[in-house]
Amino acid sequence: MRVKLVVGNWKMNGNLASSQALLKAILPAVAKFDRARYAVCPPYPYLAAIGTALRGSNMALGAQDLCRFEDGAYTGAVSGAMLADCGCRYAIVGHSERRGVFGEGDDLVAQKHAQALKHGVTPILCVGETLAEREAGSTESVVARQLDAVTKRCGAAALGQAVIAYEPVWAIGTGKTATPQQAQDVHAFIRGRIAAADRHVADALTLLYGGSVKAGNAAQLFAMPDVDGGLIGGASLAADEFVAICRAAQDAKETVKA
Ligand code: PEP
Repeated sequence: MRVKLVVGNWKMNGNLASSQALLKAILPAVAKFDRARYAVCPPYPYLAAIGTALRGSNMALGAQDLCRFEDGAYTGAVSGAMLADCGCRYAIVGHSERRGVFGEGDDLVAQKHAQALKHGVTPILCVGETLAEREAGSTESVVARQLDAVTKRCGAAALGQAVIAYEPVWAIGTGKTATPQQAQDVHAFIRGRIAAADRHVADALTLLYGGSVKAGNAAQLFAMPDVDGGLIGGASLAADEFVAICRAAQDAKETVKA
């Protein structure tokens, strides 16, 4: 049985006061939901304060990125050990904004994945195709390449220790959501590819969908058999929207292993 997971990615938004106010509006409502898992990923400077605010709640702390190196002369970078020290349970790796805006390639993402695992932080590995790649019929080959980069560097078990987020680039922050069937098709492809190496790992794997998830479409997406929750950007910044998405995860039927 896979338990749904909803992760809010706050990106580079807000300030300390607005982040704390957002949590104050979210946490009491989400505290009533006991059938799913929840997390938020604030900007780095707020990790410690938000971690303190989350203490005793049913919402975990995550980071939006981490450095591929262990420690040392890497000005501006934040290590996996530091994230663990701040109480992060998760770290997003390979978000399309890191890949696209900051030029991160598949192997760099794999190195970050390895660093997170090394420090007991669960990587949320983002994969997904651009609109041009979808239109060219390359969705599966792009996603396969992104997954294979991690198994090549970190070994086959590394995907089983992660959360994977399918995030079609054309759906992120655009208001254009993949249909539940489009999401399901790619999720089934991902699970099938991992099952070819290890069926048990694939069955247990948490596979999130991300890309313009909102209160109005979360339930349909979460109802798909291979969609185990969502990575939520814009809608995680509005308390009512995010709580409604968290409720959709709480109300979704649990996926029973085949
Ligand atoms: C994201 O940031 O990962 C994301 C999916 O953003 P949005 O929900 O705004 O599309």
